[in-house]
Amino acid sequence: MRIYNTLTRRKEEFVPIEDGKVRMYVCGPTVYNFIHIGNARPMIVFDTFRRYMEYKGYEVNYVSNFTDVDDKIIKKAMEEGVDASEISSRYIEECKKDMAGMNVKPATVHPLATQEIDGMIDMISCLIEKGYAYAAADGTVYFRTNKFKDYGKLSHKNLEDLQAGHRDIQVTGELKEDPFDFVLWKPKKEGEPAWESPWCEGRPGWHIECSVMSKKYLGETIDIHAGGEDLIFPHHENEIAQSEAASGKEFAHYWMHNGFLNIDNRKMSKSLGNFFTVREISEKYDLQVLRFFMLSAHYRSPLNFSAELMEAAGNGLERILTAAEHIRHLLGAAKETAMTEAERALYEESAKYQEKFDAAMEDDCNTADAVSAVFELVKFINTNASSENSRAFLEKLLGRLQMLCDVLGILTEKEEVLLDAEIEKLIEERQAARKEKNFARADEIREELAAKGIILKDTREGVTWKRA
Ligand code: AMP
Ligand code: ZN
Repeated sequence: MRIYNTLTRRKEEFVPIEDGKVRMYVCGPTVYNFIHIGNARPMIVFDTFRRYMEYKGYEVNYVSNFTDVDDKIIKKAMEEGVDASEISSRYIEECKKDMAGMNVKPATVHPLATQEIDGMIDMISCLIEKGYAYAAADGTVYFRTNKFKDYGKLSHKNLEDLQAGHRDIQVTGELKEDPFDFVLWKPKKEGEPAWESPWCEGRPGWHIECSVMSKKYLGETIDIHAGGEDLIFPHHENEIAQSEAASGKEFAHYWMHNGFLNIDNRKMSKSLGNFFTVREISEKYDLQVLRFFMLSAHYRSPLNFSAELMEAAGNGLERILTAAEHIRHLLGAAKETAMTEAERALYEESAKYQEKFDAAMEDDCNTADAVSAVFELVKFINTNASSENSRAFLEKLLGRLQMLCDVLGILTEKEEVLLDAEIEKLIEERQAARKEKNFARADEIREELAAKGIILKDTREGVTWKRA
Protein backbone atom coordinates (compact mmCIF):
# COMPACT_ATOMS: atom_id res chain seq x y z
CA MET A 1 0.00 0.00 0.00
CA ARG A 2 1.18 3.50 -0.77
CA ILE A 3 0.63 6.26 1.75
CA TYR A 4 1.15 9.99 1.27
CA ASN A 5 3.58 10.91 4.03
CA THR A 6 3.40 14.54 5.16
CA LEU A 7 6.96 14.16 6.43
CA THR A 8 8.46 13.50 3.00
CA ARG A 9 5.63 15.00 0.93
CA ARG A 10 5.61 11.87 -1.20
CA LYS A 11 3.58 8.72 -1.55
CA GLU A 12 5.60 5.91 -0.03
CA GLU A 13 5.20 2.16 0.11
CA PHE A 14 3.96 1.19 3.55
CA VAL A 15 6.45 -1.05 5.34
CA PRO A 16 5.40 -1.90 8.90
CA ILE A 17 7.87 -2.02 11.78
CA GLU A 18 6.68 -5.50 12.60
CA ASP A 19 5.44 -7.89 9.92
CA GLY A 20 1.67 -8.12 9.79
CA LYS A 21 1.11 -5.42 12.39
CA VAL A 22 0.21 -1.75 12.29
CA ARG A 23 0.74 0.61 15.20
CA MET A 24 -1.36 3.67 14.62
CA TYR A 25 -2.19 6.76 16.68
CA VAL A 26 -4.95 9.19 15.74
CA CYS A 27 -5.33 12.46 17.67
CA GLY A 28 -8.79 12.52 19.17
CA PRO A 29 -11.11 15.35 20.11
CA THR A 30 -11.06 17.73 23.03
CA VAL A 31 -14.25 16.86 24.85
CA TYR A 32 -16.07 20.01 25.90
CA ASN A 33 -19.09 19.75 23.64
CA PHE A 34 -20.73 17.49 21.08
CA ILE A 35 -18.33 16.74 18.22
CA HIS A 36 -19.03 18.49 14.93
CA ILE A 37 -18.93 16.83 11.54
CA GLY A 38 -15.46 18.32 10.90
CA ASN A 39 -14.18 16.29 13.86
CA ALA A 40 -16.00 13.30 12.40
CA ARG A 41 -13.93 13.42 9.22
CA PRO A 42 -10.67 12.02 10.69
CA MET A 43 -12.71 9.50 12.67
CA ILE A 44 -14.39 8.16 9.55
CA VAL A 45 -11.47 8.25 7.12
CA PHE A 46 -8.91 6.71 9.48
CA ASP A 47 -11.44 4.11 10.63
CA THR A 48 -11.80 3.18 6.97
CA PHE A 49 -8.03 3.03 6.57
CA ARG A 50 -7.90 0.76 9.62
CA ARG A 51 -10.66 -1.48 8.24
CA TYR A 52 -8.79 -1.79 4.96
CA MET A 53 -5.58 -2.78 6.75
CA GLU A 54 -7.53 -5.39 8.72
CA TYR A 55 -9.12 -6.67 5.51
CA LYS A 56 -5.58 -7.13 4.20
CA GLY A 57 -4.80 -9.24 7.22
CA TYR A 58 -2.92 -6.77 9.39
CA GLU A 59 -3.46 -6.71 13.10
CA VAL A 60 -4.03 -3.02 13.80
CA ASN A 61 -3.31 -1.57 17.20
CA TYR A 62 -5.31 1.64 16.90
CA VAL A 63 -4.99 4.20 19.64
CA SER A 64 -7.02 7.39 19.79
CA ASN A 65 -7.08 9.67 22.79
CA PHE A 66 -9.61 11.95 24.37
CA THR A 67 -8.14 15.26 25.51
CA ASP A 68 -10.00 15.60 28.78
CA VAL A 69 -8.12 18.49 30.38
CA ASP A 70 -7.96 21.77 28.51
CA ASP A 71 -8.84 25.46 28.82
CA LYS A 72 -12.12 25.02 26.95
CA ILE A 73 -13.25 22.17 29.19
CA ILE A 74 -12.38 24.19 32.28
CA LYS A 75 -14.24 27.23 30.94
CA LYS A 76 -17.34 25.16 30.26
CA ALA A 77 -17.12 23.56 33.73
CA MET A 78 -16.93 27.01 35.34
CA GLU A 79 -19.93 28.20 33.34
CA GLU A 80 -21.96 25.21 34.50
CA GLY A 81 -20.55 25.26 38.03
CA VAL A 82 -19.44 21.60 37.85
CA ASP A 83 -16.11 19.74 37.86
CA ALA A 84 -14.12 19.60 34.64
CA SER A 85 -14.27 15.81 34.87
CA GLU A 86 -18.06 15.94 34.71
CA ILE A 87 -17.90 17.87 31.43
CA SER A 88 -15.29 15.59 29.88
CA SER A 89 -16.93 12.33 30.89
CA ARG A 90 -20.30 13.58 29.64
CA TYR A 91 -18.92 14.46 26.19
CA ILE A 92 -16.81 11.31 25.93
CA GLU A 93 -20.02 9.31 26.34
CA GLU A 94 -21.77 11.48 23.75
CA CYS A 95 -18.84 11.19 21.37
CA LYS A 96 -18.91 7.40 21.67
CA LYS A 97 -22.61 7.41 20.78
CA ASP A 98 -21.87 9.47 17.68
CA MET A 99 -19.02 7.15 16.73
CA ALA A 100 -21.31 4.14 17.04
CA GLY A 101 -23.91 5.89 14.87
CA MET A 102 -21.28 6.49 12.18
CA ASN A 103 -20.13 2.88 12.52
CA VAL A 104 -16.65 3.98 13.62
CA LYS A 105 -15.09 1.07 15.48
CA PRO A 106 -13.92 1.76 19.01
CA ALA A 107 -10.13 2.15 19.12
CA THR A 108 -8.07 -0.66 20.61
CA VAL A 109 -7.48 1.84 23.42
CA HIS A 110 -9.01 5.26 24.03
CA PRO A 111 -6.61 6.72 26.59
CA LEU A 112 -7.55 9.78 28.64
CA ALA A 113 -4.97 12.49 29.22
CA THR A 114 -5.90 12.83 32.91
CA GLN A 115 -5.10 9.15 33.48
CA GLU A 116 -1.58 9.47 32.10
CA ILE A 117 -0.14 12.33 34.16
CA ASP A 118 2.67 10.24 35.68
CA GLY A 119 3.98 9.33 32.25
CA MET A 120 3.90 13.02 31.28
CA ILE A 121 5.86 14.03 34.36
CA ASP A 122 8.42 11.31 33.53
CA MET A 123 8.85 12.48 29.95
CA ILE A 124 9.13 16.14 30.97
CA SER A 125 11.75 15.23 33.61
CA CYS A 126 13.70 13.32 30.98
CA LEU A 127 13.57 16.31 28.62
CA ILE A 128 14.84 18.63 31.37
CA GLU A 129 17.65 16.20 32.18
CA LYS A 130 18.72 16.11 28.54
CA GLY A 131 18.65 19.88 28.25
CA TYR A 132 15.61 19.94 25.94
CA ALA A 133 13.37 21.64 28.47
CA TYR A 134 13.61 24.13 31.31
CA ALA A 135 11.45 25.28 34.16
CA ALA A 136 10.83 29.02 34.38
CA ALA A 137 10.60 30.92 37.66
CA ASP A 138 6.81 30.51 37.93
CA GLY A 139 7.00 26.72 37.52
CA THR A 140 6.03 26.65 33.83
CA VAL A 141 8.12 24.12 31.93
CA TYR A 142 8.97 24.92 28.31
CA PHE A 143 10.44 22.87 25.51
CA ARG A 144 13.70 24.42 24.24
CA THR A 145 12.83 24.44 20.54
CA ASN A 146 16.14 25.55 19.09
CA LYS A 147 17.97 22.68 20.76
CA PHE A 148 15.98 20.18 18.69
CA LYS A 149 17.75 20.33 15.36
CA ASP A 150 14.95 18.72 13.35
CA TYR A 151 12.31 21.20 14.50
CA GLY A 152 10.16 22.05 11.48
CA LYS A 153 10.77 18.82 9.58
CA LEU A 154 7.10 17.81 9.43
CA SER A 155 5.58 21.18 8.61
CA HIS A 156 8.58 22.00 6.40
CA LYS A 157 9.03 25.24 8.27
CA ASN A 158 12.42 26.69 8.94
CA LEU A 159 12.74 27.85 12.52
CA GLU A 160 15.15 30.63 11.63
CA ASP A 161 12.74 32.03 9.03
CA LEU A 162 9.92 31.74 11.52
CA GLN A 163 11.92 33.56 14.12
CA ALA A 164 12.89 36.30 11.69
CA GLY A 165 9.23 36.81 10.89
CA HIS A 166 8.18 36.86 14.51
CA ARG A 167 10.72 39.03 16.24
CA ASP A 168 7.89 41.10 17.61
CA ILE A 169 6.10 38.12 19.19
CA GLN A 170 5.13 38.95 22.71
CA VAL A 171 7.02 36.62 25.01
CA THR A 172 4.66 35.90 27.89
CA GLY A 173 6.12 37.56 30.94
CA GLU A 174 9.60 37.15 29.37
CA LEU A 175 9.80 33.68 30.91
CA LYS A 176 10.48 31.89 27.64
CA GLU A 177 13.95 31.80 26.19
CA ASP A 178 12.53 31.87 22.68
CA PRO A 179 9.12 32.73 21.25
CA PHE A 180 8.79 29.24 19.72
CA ASP A 181 9.38 27.40 22.97
CA PHE A 182 6.13 25.74 23.94
CA VAL A 183 4.57 24.69 27.22
CA LEU A 184 5.04 21.20 28.62
CA TRP A 185 3.64 21.94 32.07
CA LYS A 186 1.79 24.96 33.38
CA PRO A 187 0.95 26.20 36.87
CA LYS A 188 -2.56 25.93 38.16
CA LYS A 189 -4.90 28.87 38.24
CA GLU A 190 -7.62 29.25 40.83
CA GLY A 191 -10.35 26.64 40.46
CA GLU A 192 -8.53 24.55 37.83
CA PRO A 193 -7.83 20.83 38.03
CA ALA A 194 -4.19 20.30 39.00
CA TRP A 195 -1.65 17.62 39.82
CA GLU A 196 1.51 17.69 41.93
CA SER A 197 4.76 17.79 39.99
CA PRO A 198 8.44 18.57 40.67
CA TRP A 199 7.92 22.07 39.18
CA CYS A 200 4.61 23.28 40.50
CA GLU A 201 1.08 22.14 41.10
CA GLY A 202 -0.39 22.33 37.62
CA ARG A 203 -1.36 20.52 34.47
CA PRO A 204 0.24 19.32 31.25
CA GLY A 205 0.36 21.17 27.95
CA TRP A 206 -1.65 19.65 25.10
CA HIS A 207 1.22 18.33 22.96
CA ILE A 208 2.92 16.26 25.65
CA GLU A 209 -0.26 14.24 26.16
CA CYS A 210 -0.13 12.64 22.74
CA SER A 211 3.62 11.94 22.89
CA VAL A 212 3.15 10.10 26.16
CA MET A 213 0.01 8.17 25.27
CA SER A 214 1.46 7.09 21.94
CA LYS A 215 4.61 5.84 23.66
CA LYS A 216 2.74 4.03 26.41
CA TYR A 217 0.31 2.14 24.18
CA LEU A 218 2.32 1.73 20.98
CA GLY A 219 6.01 2.10 21.86
CA GLU A 220 8.68 4.72 21.15
CA THR A 221 8.49 4.31 17.39
CA ILE A 222 5.15 3.77 15.69
CA ASP A 223 4.07 3.17 12.11
CA ILE A 224 1.46 5.85 11.53
CA HIS A 225 0.42 9.02 13.28
CA ALA A 226 -2.67 10.75 11.93
CA GLY A 227 -5.05 13.66 12.38
CA GLY A 228 -6.50 16.67 10.63
CA GLU A 229 -4.14 18.91 8.67
CA ASP A 230 -4.58 21.75 11.18
CA LEU A 231 -2.59 19.59 13.59
CA ILE A 232 0.58 19.51 11.45
CA PHE A 233 1.81 22.71 13.03
CA PRO A 234 2.34 23.17 15.86
CA HIS A 235 0.78 20.06 17.45
CA HIS A 236 2.45 17.28 15.48
CA GLU A 237 5.68 19.21 15.02
CA ASN A 238 5.84 19.58 18.80
CA GLU A 239 4.98 15.94 19.39
CA ILE A 240 7.91 14.94 17.19
CA ALA A 241 10.25 17.31 19.03
CA GLN A 242 9.26 15.97 22.46
CA SER A 243 9.20 12.29 21.56
CA GLU A 244 12.38 12.24 19.51
CA ALA A 245 14.31 14.41 21.97
CA ALA A 246 13.27 12.09 24.80
CA SER A 247 13.85 8.72 23.09
CA GLY A 248 16.53 9.54 20.53
CA LYS A 249 14.47 7.49 18.06
CA GLU A 250 12.20 8.32 15.16
CA PHE A 251 8.68 8.91 16.52
CA ALA A 252 6.47 7.87 13.59
CA HIS A 253 7.35 6.57 10.13
CA TYR A 254 4.27 7.87 8.31
CA TRP A 255 2.23 11.00 8.98
CA MET A 256 -1.26 11.09 7.48
CA HIS A 257 -3.42 14.22 7.50
CA ASN A 258 -6.98 14.63 6.35
CA GLY A 259 -8.15 17.77 4.58
CA PHE A 260 -10.78 20.04 6.05
CA LEU A 261 -14.47 19.66 5.98
CA ASN A 262 -15.62 23.09 4.86
CA ILE A 263 -18.81 25.06 4.73
CA ASP A 264 -18.93 27.67 1.97
CA ASN A 265 -15.25 26.88 1.45
CA ARG A 266 -14.27 27.79 5.00
CA LYS A 267 -13.09 25.28 7.58
CA MET A 268 -15.89 24.10 9.80
CA SER A 269 -14.88 24.94 13.34
CA LYS A 270 -16.34 25.70 16.71
CA SER A 271 -14.55 29.05 16.89
CA LEU A 272 -16.02 30.27 13.58
CA GLY A 273 -19.43 29.05 14.68
CA ASN A 274 -20.10 27.55 11.21
CA PHE A 275 -20.56 23.99 12.38
CA PHE A 276 -23.14 21.23 12.60
CA THR A 277 -22.78 18.67 15.32
CA VAL A 278 -23.00 15.01 14.38
CA ARG A 279 -26.03 14.89 16.66
CA GLU A 280 -27.82 17.62 14.69
CA ILE A 281 -27.07 15.82 11.44
CA SER A 282 -28.39 12.56 12.91
CA GLU A 283 -31.79 14.20 13.32
CA LYS A 284 -32.03 14.79 9.57
CA TYR A 285 -30.09 11.91 8.06
CA ASP A 286 -29.06 8.38 8.84
CA LEU A 287 -25.40 8.76 9.94
CA GLN A 288 -24.51 6.11 7.36
CA VAL A 289 -25.21 8.81 4.79
CA LEU A 290 -22.75 11.15 6.54
CA ARG A 291 -20.14 8.38 6.48
CA PHE A 292 -20.75 7.68 2.80
CA PHE A 293 -20.58 11.40 2.01
CA MET A 294 -17.14 11.64 3.68
CA LEU A 295 -15.86 8.63 1.74
CA SER A 296 -16.99 10.06 -1.59
CA ALA A 297 -13.95 12.37 -1.53
CA HIS A 298 -10.26 11.63 -1.15
CA TYR A 299 -9.31 12.10 2.49
CA ARG A 300 -6.65 14.71 1.67
CA SER A 301 -8.95 16.89 -0.45
CA PRO A 302 -11.01 19.65 1.05
CA LEU A 303 -14.65 18.64 1.19
CA ASN A 304 -17.49 21.10 1.14
CA PHE A 305 -20.56 20.19 3.13
CA SER A 306 -23.94 20.89 1.56
CA ALA A 307 -27.47 19.53 1.60
CA GLU A 308 -27.18 18.72 -2.14
CA LEU A 309 -24.05 16.63 -1.65
CA MET A 310 -25.63 14.84 1.30
CA GLU A 311 -28.64 14.09 -0.84
CA ALA A 312 -26.41 12.73 -3.60
CA ALA A 313 -24.59 10.60 -1.01
CA GLY A 314 -27.95 9.34 0.27
CA ASN A 315 -29.00 8.33 -3.24
CA GLY A 316 -25.69 6.60 -3.93
CA LEU A 317 -25.87 4.70 -0.68
CA GLU A 318 -29.44 3.69 -1.43
CA ARG A 319 -28.32 2.14 -4.74
CA ILE A 320 -25.86 -0.09 -2.90
CA LEU A 321 -28.32 -1.06 -0.20
CA THR A 322 -31.00 -1.81 -2.78
CA ALA A 323 -28.66 -4.16 -4.66
CA ALA A 324 -27.86 -6.02 -1.43
CA GLU A 325 -31.54 -6.12 -0.56
CA HIS A 326 -32.35 -7.44 -4.03
CA ILE A 327 -29.97 -10.40 -3.63
CA ARG A 328 -31.30 -11.14 -0.17
CA HIS A 329 -34.78 -11.18 -1.61
CA LEU A 330 -33.70 -13.56 -4.39
CA LEU A 331 -32.03 -15.79 -1.83
CA GLY A 332 -35.40 -16.31 -0.19
CA ALA A 333 -36.53 -18.50 -3.10
CA ALA A 334 -33.22 -19.42 -4.71
CA LYS A 335 -32.54 -22.78 -6.32
CA GLU A 336 -30.60 -25.14 -4.10
CA THR A 337 -28.33 -26.22 -6.94
CA ALA A 338 -24.60 -25.99 -7.45
CA MET A 339 -23.13 -23.08 -9.41
CA THR A 340 -23.37 -23.55 -13.14
CA GLU A 341 -20.37 -23.02 -15.38
CA ALA A 342 -21.87 -19.74 -16.57
CA GLU A 343 -22.36 -18.59 -12.98
CA ARG A 344 -18.83 -19.53 -12.10
CA ALA A 345 -17.54 -17.45 -15.01
CA LEU A 346 -19.71 -14.50 -13.96
CA TYR A 347 -18.52 -14.71 -10.41
CA GLU A 348 -14.94 -14.72 -11.61
CA GLU A 349 -15.70 -11.71 -13.76
CA SER A 350 -17.00 -9.84 -10.72
CA ALA A 351 -13.56 -10.16 -9.13
CA LYS A 352 -12.37 -7.32 -11.31
CA TYR A 353 -14.46 -4.85 -9.33
CA GLN A 354 -12.88 -6.02 -6.11
CA GLU A 355 -9.46 -5.66 -7.76
CA LYS A 356 -10.36 -2.10 -8.76
CA PHE A 357 -11.51 -1.42 -5.23
CA ASP A 358 -8.27 -2.78 -3.79
CA ALA A 359 -6.14 -0.83 -6.27
CA ALA A 360 -7.89 2.40 -5.28
CA MET A 361 -7.39 1.73 -1.58
CA GLU A 362 -3.77 0.73 -2.17
CA ASP A 363 -3.21 4.14 -3.70
CA ASP A 364 -3.19 6.25 -0.54
CA CYS A 365 -6.63 5.12 0.58
CA ASN A 366 -8.51 6.56 -2.38
CA THR A 367 -12.02 5.92 -1.09
CA ALA A 368 -13.56 8.04 -3.87
CA ASP A 369 -12.35 5.56 -6.50
CA ALA A 370 -13.08 2.61 -4.22
CA VAL A 371 -16.70 3.77 -3.99
CA SER A 372 -16.84 3.96 -7.81
CA ALA A 373 -15.69 0.34 -7.97
CA VAL A 374 -18.52 -0.61 -5.60
CA PHE A 375 -21.00 1.15 -7.90
CA GLU A 376 -19.66 -0.89 -10.81
CA LEU A 377 -20.15 -4.06 -8.83
CA VAL A 378 -23.69 -2.95 -8.00
CA LYS A 379 -24.42 -2.43 -11.67
CA PHE A 380 -23.01 -5.87 -12.42
CA ILE A 381 -25.23 -7.40 -9.74
CA ASN A 382 -28.32 -5.62 -11.04
CA THR A 383 -27.63 -6.93 -14.53
CA ASN A 384 -26.64 -10.47 -13.62
CA ALA A 385 -28.51 -11.61 -10.53
CA SER A 386 -31.99 -13.00 -11.06
CA SER A 387 -34.44 -15.56 -9.73
CA GLU A 388 -32.89 -18.02 -12.20
CA ASN A 389 -29.65 -18.15 -10.22
CA SER A 390 -28.48 -20.74 -7.75
CA ARG A 391 -28.23 -19.94 -4.06
CA ALA A 392 -24.47 -20.61 -4.18
CA PHE A 393 -23.94 -17.95 -6.85
CA LEU A 394 -26.12 -15.35 -5.16
CA GLU A 395 -24.43 -15.93 -1.81
CA LYS A 396 -20.99 -15.52 -3.34
CA LEU A 397 -21.98 -12.32 -5.08
CA LEU A 398 -23.54 -10.89 -1.96
CA GLY A 399 -20.43 -11.94 -0.02
CA ARG A 400 -18.24 -9.89 -2.37
CA LEU A 401 -20.42 -6.79 -2.05
CA GLN A 402 -20.64 -7.24 1.68
CA MET A 403 -16.87 -7.54 2.04
CA LEU A 404 -16.26 -4.22 0.26
CA CYS A 405 -18.99 -2.47 2.22
CA ASP A 406 -17.43 -3.77 5.44
CA VAL A 407 -14.16 -2.07 4.51
CA LEU A 408 -16.02 1.19 3.93
CA GLY A 409 -17.92 0.66 7.18
CA ILE A 410 -21.25 0.67 5.37
CA LEU A 411 -23.91 -1.59 6.83
CA THR A 412 -25.82 -3.28 4.03
CA GLU A 413 -28.41 -4.82 6.22
CA LYS A 414 -30.78 -2.32 7.66
CA GLU A 415 -30.42 -3.29 11.26
CA GLU A 416 -33.03 -1.88 13.47
CA VAL A 417 -30.79 0.89 14.65
CA LEU A 418 -32.56 3.30 16.91
CA LEU A 419 -31.71 6.91 16.30
CA ASP A 420 -30.71 8.90 19.36
CA ALA A 421 -33.87 10.97 19.14
CA GLU A 422 -36.01 7.78 19.16
CA ILE A 423 -34.19 6.52 22.22
CA GLU A 424 -34.69 9.79 24.06
CA LYS A 425 -38.36 9.71 23.17
CA LEU A 426 -38.79 6.20 24.58
CA ILE A 427 -36.95 7.23 27.73
CA GLU A 428 -39.33 10.17 28.17
CA GLU A 429 -42.28 7.85 27.67
CA ARG A 430 -40.84 5.51 30.29
CA GLN A 431 -40.42 8.38 32.75
CA ALA A 432 -44.03 9.40 32.16
CA ALA A 433 -45.19 5.81 32.69
CA ARG A 434 -43.30 5.65 35.97
CA LYS A 435 -44.84 8.90 37.13
CA GLU A 436 -48.25 7.40 36.48
CA LYS A 437 -47.12 4.28 38.35
CA ASN A 438 -47.55 2.25 35.18
CA PHE A 439 -44.53 0.11 36.01
CA ALA A 440 -45.47 -2.62 33.59
CA ARG A 441 -45.18 -0.17 30.67
CA ALA A 442 -41.98 1.30 32.11
CA ASP A 443 -40.41 -2.16 32.30
CA GLU A 444 -41.62 -2.99 28.84
CA ILE A 445 -39.82 0.06 27.45
CA ARG A 446 -36.64 -0.80 29.32
CA GLU A 447 -36.76 -4.32 27.87
CA GLU A 448 -37.53 -3.07 24.39
CA LEU A 449 -34.47 -0.81 24.55
CA ALA A 450 -32.31 -3.56 26.03
CA ALA A 451 -33.27 -5.85 23.14
CA LYS A 452 -31.89 -3.20 20.80
CA GLY A 453 -28.68 -2.90 22.75
CA ILE A 454 -29.54 0.25 24.68
CA ILE A 455 -28.69 0.19 28.35
CA LEU A 456 -30.40 2.58 30.72
CA LYS A 457 -29.01 3.80 33.98
CA ASP A 458 -31.19 5.55 36.53
CA THR A 459 -29.21 8.18 38.40
CA ARG A 460 -30.20 10.91 40.80
CA GLU A 461 -29.83 13.45 38.01
CA GLY A 462 -32.09 11.47 35.68
CA VAL A 463 -31.78 8.66 33.20
CA THR A 464 -28.61 8.20 31.15
CA TRP A 465 -28.17 5.66 28.38
CA LYS A 466 -25.49 4.02 26.33
CA ARG A 467 -25.21 1.56 23.48
CA ALA A 468 -24.01 -1.88 24.55
P1 AMP B 1 -10.03 19.13 18.00
O1 AMP B 1 -11.07 18.66 18.97
O2 AMP B 1 -10.27 20.52 17.48
O3 AMP B 1 -8.62 18.92 18.52
O4 AMP B 1 -10.16 18.22 16.69
C1 AMP B 1 -10.15 16.81 16.69
C2 AMP B 1 -9.79 16.33 15.32
O5 AMP B 1 -10.70 16.84 14.34
C3 AMP B 1 -8.40 16.76 14.85
O6 AMP B 1 -7.79 15.70 14.13
C4 AMP B 1 -8.70 17.92 13.91
O7 AMP B 1 -7.68 18.11 12.97
C5 AMP B 1 -9.98 17.45 13.27
N1 AMP B 1 -10.78 18.54 12.68
C6 AMP B 1 -11.29 19.62 13.34
N2 AMP B 1 -12.00 20.40 12.49
C7 AMP B 1 -11.95 19.80 11.27
C8 AMP B 1 -12.53 20.11 9.98
N3 AMP B 1 -13.28 21.18 9.77
N4 AMP B 1 -12.26 19.26 8.97
C9 AMP B 1 -11.52 18.16 9.16
N5 AMP B 1 -10.95 17.81 10.33
C10 AMP B 1 -11.17 18.62 11.39
ZN1 ZN C 1 -2.33 14.72 19.34
